[in-house]
Formats: sequence, C-alpha cells, structure tokens
Amino acid sequence: MNSRIWLSSPHMGGNELKYIHEAFDTNWIAPLGPNVTGFENDLKQFLNTQKEVGALASGTAAIHLGLILAGVTAGDEVICQSMTFSASANPILYQGATPVFVDSELETWNMCPNHLETAIKDRIANGKKPKAIIPVHLYGMPAKIDEIVAIANKYEIAIIEDAAESLGSTYKGQNCGTFGAYAALSFNGNKIITTSGGGAIVCNDEEAKKQAIFLATQARDDAPHYQHSHVGYNYRMSNIVAGIGRGQMEVLDKHIGLRRDMQKFYKNIFKDVAGVTVFEEPNEDYFSNHWLSCITVDEKIAGFSREDLRLALWEDNIESRPLWKPMHLQPIFEKYPYYGTNICENLFNTGLCLPSGSNLTTQEKERITQVIAAFLA
Ligand SMILES: *Cc1c(COP(=O)(O)O)cnc(C)c1O
Repeated sequence: MNSRIWLSSPHMGGNELKYIHEAFDTNWIAPLGPNVTGFENDLKQFLNTQKEVGALASGTAAIHLGLILAGVTAGDEVICQSMTFSASANPILYQGATPVFVDSELETWNMCPNHLETAIKDRIANGKKPKAIIPVHLYGMPAKIDEIVAIANKYEIAIIEDAAESLGSTYKGQNCGTFGAYAALSFNGNKIITTSGGGAIVCNDEEAKKQAIFLATQARDDAPHYQHSHVGYNYRMSNIVAGIGRGQMEVLDKHIGLRRDMQKFYKNIFKDVAGVTVFEEPNEDYFSNHWLSCITVDEKIAGFSREDLRLALWEDNIESRPLWKPMHLQPIFEKYPYYGTNICENLFNTGLCLPSGSNLTTQEKERITQVIAAFLA
C-alpha cells in the first residue's frame, strides 16, 4: 500500500525545538512566559495591526471568549455562517444562546450579506436583535467582509470574526482577523501553521485583551487569596506550545506561498476538465492563503461526481474530503433558524477539498497527478 497523503499535515520549520529548549532551560513550564509573549508579538506584527493578540488554548476558546466579551448571554441570538466547522457555532450553545444560521454566497463561499441583512431584519421583527455575527473566511478565502461590516455597523451588532483558516489572507490589503470587534485564530494540527493545538484572540485594544486573558486564567480577582466574582476558564496557551508557534511564525510566509502553489497545481491539473471548477479569488481585492485547495464538480458536465473522484483518490490512499457540511443540516443544530436558499447545500454536495499541505513532496504531487489523470481517462 502506498503511504497516506494527507489533506493537510503539520510542517515544522526547524526552530520550534530551539524555543522549547529555551522554555526548559529557563523553567518557564507554565501557561505564560517569554514564548507566549513572543508569539503574541509575532502575530500582532504579522497582522500589521494596532489591535492586541492573546494566545489561547484553542481557536474555539477564542470564539467563546469573543462571545462573552461581546455580552452574549443565555437567551440571546447569534448569527453564524452555516457552512463552517462546528467550532464556529458550538460556543454559541456554551453561552446558552441561540444560533441563527445564514447561507453562503457563491463567490467566496462565505456569509451572504443579503441573507445576513434579511436575517437581522426578521429577527428584529420577531422582537429580538441578534447580539453578535460570526462570519468565517473558509479555506482561507476572505468573506465579503466590507459588506458584512457595513451591515453590522448599521444595526450596531458586534462581529466575532472566525479567522481560524485564514491567517495570512487579506481583503483589500487588510489581514483577515482584524475586521471584527474580536477575531479567532487557530493553530490546530491541520492549520496553515500549528502549535499542535492552540489559538489566539484578536481584540480591539489592551483593555479588551486584559479582559480576555482574565477570563482565560480562571477570572482571578486582584487579591492575595483566591477571589472570584466571575465565571472563569482555563483557556491560556502553554509556554511550551507557544515555542512551537514562534518557530512556525518564521516560516508562515513560506507556507502561504507553498499553499498557494498547491492551488495553482490543481488549476493546472483541471484546466481542460469541463465541469470541474477550482476555487479561486473572485477578484484582486481578495488574497487567499489557500489553506485548502477545493474544487466543485458539476456531475452533468463532468460525467462523474465529487464522490467518484474522492473514492478514486482514497483507493490510492490519498485523503480528500467533502466541503464542510452546513450547520443547519447537522443533527445538533437543525432545530435552529436558517436564512438562505441552498447555496451551501449545493457546495456541500458538489465540493471536494484536495491534499493541500505545504510539505507535499514532488513524488507525492506526481502521485496525485497520476491518480487524477488515470481517473479522468
Ligand atoms: C479549526 C477551526 C476552528 C477551531 O479552532 P481550534 O483551534 O481547533 O479550536 C474554528 N473555526 C474554523 C472555521 C476552523 O477551521
């Protein structure tokens, strides 16, 4: 059997262990320390922003804290992009709030501004203004974020931006993760850079970051004894894990280039294949890190389905996956409101994510090329 080719696997840069050794040498084996501070500074600099970055245990924790800081409590409604990973929506339930799902548009596959505004108007007409909006930049593709921000401002609703997949992506030159009142980054094992597991929250200012870190470290009041007047969480990033992050930041730009090369690789493979469309930026305002390269297959034109192709790849031990299954179709979320038509359902039914790692070897890429060529022939 051929070795497995993964959709997206960790790709170390080389200096990660150096930072981990530093942590051991100085006994900073704790959920704070020089690597945590250094990683936060690296991220802030990379995002080219006045905002502040707080390293956390996961991207999910960042979304959860963003919701809390936006004032979301039990009984509130929160609008969330339906086509996404469940971690965008789960924290809404942690707060006892109600998710309201919104369809995607076809250009970026992210939250449709028209359906967003329809949803807001309808929820207000029903007697409740949504407390927050969670747009996502799926697969690294920036959402129509200026339109979404304009709508959010018009109705004075906070944006919690899910930038878990889009570190290094920009819209009109501005980095994803800097548009919302709060934003979540993720360094899970499959993301464009990884700390094995981890995340970060991007906040408007130092005060907001202080609040986030306060909640993330068990909400300890300022007292010599253990004193608490808020519910706290244990959401801080470890100084060991942050050492991996510092090493990864040194190769982030290179990884973005390699991921973008993978998208070009698939554009070339499918350039003459009718019915197959490789996902790409709608115009020059959008710059995607192409975390994952994706295609959609129009079965009527192509003569095969996305599932046919997925199984052919799997037969050669090559991993590919359908696009995210929309949240409003998930057993856990199907009882909640949904605004849209069937754009994200169609994408789920016809779309496929292909191996996109920055560490794929020439031989592995040749194998992918050959298996697809054999399948098409
Ligand atoms: C990975 C991911 C998350 C969650 O990040 P974790 O660090 O794994 O908690 C949230 N949203 C999206 C869209 C993701 O892809």
